[in-house]
Amino acid sequence: MPELPEVEVIRCALEPLIMGKTFVSPVLYMSSTIEYPGPEEFCAFLSGRRVERIGRKGKYLLIDLDRGFLAIHLRMTGNLIYCEREQTHEDRFLRIGLPFSDGSALYFSDMRRFGRIWLVESEEELALRVLKNVGPDILDEVDRDKFCRLLAKRNSTRLKTLLLDQKFIAGMGNIYTDECLHRCGLHPLRQAGTLERAEVEKLYAVIREVLAEGIEFGGTSIRNYRNAAGALGDFQSRLAVYGRRGEHCRCCGAVIEKINAAGRGTYYCPRCQKISGHVS
Ligand SMILES: [Zn+2]
Repeated sequence: MPELPEVEVIRCALEPLIMGKTFVSPVLYMSSTIEYPGPEEFCAFLSGRRVERIGRKGKYLLIDLDRGFLAIHLRMTGNLIYCEREQTHEDRFLRIGLPFSDGSALYFSDMRRFGRIWLVESEEELALRVLKNVGPDILDEVDRDKFCRLLAKRNSTRLKTLLLDQKFIAGMGNIYTDECLHRCGLHPLRQAGTLERAEVEKLYAVIREVLAEGIEFGGTSIRNYRNAAGALGDFQSRLAVYGRRGEHCRCCGAVIEKINAAGRGTYYCPRCQKISGHVS
């Protein structure tokens, strides 16, 4: 599933390609991809709208229009593909075509069909319909003190569960959470309230560092993520624990283990990330 870095890489790639362009009538191959409004209203409202800015909050891509917002969540396997010329696609997972008046087009392809698109008329409606359960973006809206304050309210929550919770902070997913906890030497099952202030500050710094590296290296390509220009991300070669069960930790040489935490497969190093009696 694309996480913050992958969505940010897509945002950066798309911005120069579609900025200032005007949408014409969309082509719906699978209308259930549109979460809101209904398919006919979606097509009628999007036609003629101009792209003014491309933003992001957590894992949501937010396209500001001259009137309203187009919000996109890629979920498990969603891909955005940009083409200079509108074309007939062989891609059998194509869900929506979003052509522009200059003949170029953006396509939304999604094998697993969990990806969703919204079109809303105002910022209020965006907050209400799309971002209601989305907390502050970890890169853009959370400074160190705010992170400490937010974490202090969730003392009994285990770290893995907490970092995956988009209401707490938005942007982290399974891969980057495991990588951040490993780099901090924190066990995924440790409760937030057992962390010293210095550990919380380190966690904050490491989250930002790891996400920035993810963006710099073009995101992580595992399963189906592709960025808008069609290229694969390159961060997976830098992963220290995720997907490496049975391999040796690069820091200490211990064998990386996989456990279930927060209902997700979770990779960690039992030597670098000791739980050390912190969990009640
Ligand atoms: Zn280790």
